[in-house]
Amino acid sequence: MQHTLARTAGVLLAGAIATGAALHAQKAAPMRIYFIDVEGGQSTLFVMPDHTSLLVDTGFPSNGGRDSQRIVDTAKKAGVSRIDYVLLTHYHLDHLGGVPELVAKIPVGTFIDHGDNRETVVPGTVRNYENYQAMLQSGKYKHIIVKPGDKLPIPGVDLTFLSAAGEVLDKPLPGAGQANATCSAPDNMPEGINTPDQAENAQSAGFEMNFGKLRILDLGDLTWDKERLLMCPANKIGHINLLIVSHHGSKPSSSPALIDGITPQVAIMDNGERKGGYVPVLDTIRTTLSKPDLWQLHYALEGGDQHNTGKAMIANPLSPEGEAAAKELAEGKPLPPPAPHANDAGNSITVEAYATGRFTVTNGRNGFAKTYQAK
Ligand SMILES: [Zn+2]
Repeated sequence: MQHTLARTAGVLLAGAIATGAALHAQKAAPMRIYFIDVEGGQSTLFVMPDHTSLLVDTGFPSNGGRDSQRIVDTAKKAGVSRIDYVLLTHYHLDHLGGVPELVAKIPVGTFIDHGDNRETVVPGTVRNYENYQAMLQSGKYKHIIVKPGDKLPIPGVDLTFLSAAGEVLDKPLPGAGQANATCSAPDNMPEGINTPDQAENAQSAGFEMNFGKLRILDLGDLTWDKERLLMCPANKIGHINLLIVSHHGSKPSSSPALIDGITPQVAIMDNGERKGGYVPVLDTIRTTLSKPDLWQLHYALEGGDQHNTGKAMIANPLSPEGEAAAKELAEGKPLPPPAPHANDAGNSITVEAYATGRFTVTNGRNGFAKTYQAK
C-alpha cells in the first residue's frame, strides 16, 4: 500500500513539475516587436525579454518630426528609455532619414550599418550619409559595420546577418541548404528592375533572428537579384515563421524564389498607402504554398479589396486623399500625385512572442489579434 502511495505521489510530483515547467516557459518574459507606422518607410522596434532594444531603421525626416516622435512614443510605451542598437539597413531617406531627430529625443548606444555608401551619384543619399558620418564622428556612439555571417551579441536571441554591402551569406544557415524548387521556374522578374542593382537597396544589411522556436527574417530593402543569390540553387535561409516583408512590398523585392523558399507562416508589410504594397508582391505573398497570414501597416491603394489582405489585419485604412484617388483610379483616370498624409492615426502592428514559439500579432487600430504557434 505504502509502495503504491509513494508511486502515486511520484507521478503527481512529476506531473506538477511538468506543468510548472510549461507555466514557467509561458510566463517567461516575451520579446515584443513594434511595427511603427512611418508611412511607407521602415522602423521596427524589437524589445528583448531583458529589455535590450534594437531599432531597425528610423523612418523619414521632417513632417514636424513625425517619425522620430512615433518611435519615441513607442519606446516609452514599451518601457524603453534608451535604444541600445539602431540598425540602419541602408542609406535611403525612408530608413536613415529620422536619425538626427531621433538622437535629439532619445539616447542611442550603438549604430550598425553595412559600411560605405554605394550610391554616390544620388545627391540626397550622399547628403544623408555625410550627415550620419558627421554624427558618428562626434564620438558619442559605438559603431559596428557588419558583413554576412556576422552575429549581433544580443542576449536571448541568435541574430545572424545574411546580407550587407551587396554580399550575401556564402553557406546555408544551420538546418537550411535544401534545393529550392522555384529556382528552376522562369524568373519572371518584373520589367524596370535594374540588375544587378548597384544602388543602396541592394546593399541592405538583412538578418535572420532566432528567438527560441521562432525564426524571423528582415532583409531591409534587399533586391530580387540578391534574393536569388541567397535562395538559388540552394535555399540558404530555410523556413521562416515571421517575415518582415522586404522593401515595403515594392516591385524590386519579394521574388517567388525568396517567398516560396522561406515558406513564411506570417508576413507583416510596412507599406504606405502609395508606397510598396505592389499588387504582384501582395499576390506572391498571399498565394505562396504556405498561405501566410499577411498583415499590412496600410491599405495599398492600387491593390483594391481583391489584392489587399483582410481589412481587420490592416492597421491604417485609406486616408481621405487616398479614398479620392482610389475613386479616380476606378473611373479610369490617372492617379493624382500622392498627398503626404502626415497626420494620419499612425496605427502600429505589434507582436508579442515567447521562446516556446507562441506569438500574437495585434492590430493597433482595432485590437484585432491572432495567436500562432511557430511551426
Ligand atoms: Zn525603403
